Amino acid sequence: MAQNVPYHTNVHLTFPPSMSGTPVVCNLTRLFDLDFSISTAQISPRQEGFMTLELLGPQDACVRAVAYLRERGIQVSPVAQRIWHDEDRCMQCGECTALCPSSALSINRETRRLDFNKEKCTVCTRCIRICPVGALHLDAQDDSLLTS
Ligand code: SF4
Ligand code: SF4
Repeated sequence: MAQNVPYHTNVHLTFPPSMSGTPVVCNLTRLFDLDFSISTAQISPRQEGFMTLELLGPQDACVRAVAYLRERGIQVSPVAQRIWHDEDRCMQCGECTALCPSSALSINRETRRLDFNKEKCTVCTRCIRICPVGALHLDAQDDSLLTS
């Protein structure tokens, strides 16, 4: 059970287009008295937003803040979740690169093979859904506090 103890965690947020421009992240400070630090933020051509941020504050406030975000349709994933690329299974079709909003996936022009830049990945999981051979997987998460 969550307690009122100091806590910090890194999370990926995926905002639906309907949330574009709303100050929901600023509300984490106003409503929950949390500090936060944004590492990456991007908006896709379809107006979906992707953000990685660190939350700092009492543990119970972090849990309530995550619930607040999810209630507004924002997908919250612990950064502990990572995409894993199975190079043996991948057939280098490039389909996943077209959907990747952060350009973490690309076809190397010289090798004609898929490059996966883990640092750019926001764990939006789109690539998992499009891959025809199941070569992209979500690693097990280890932040049970934020598991929905
Ligand atoms: S989960 Fe896949 S599609 Fe999403 S950012 Fe990461 S590599 Fe790109
Ligand atoms: S969609 Fe799957 S098989 Fe195609 S390049 Fe991406 S990971 Fe490889």
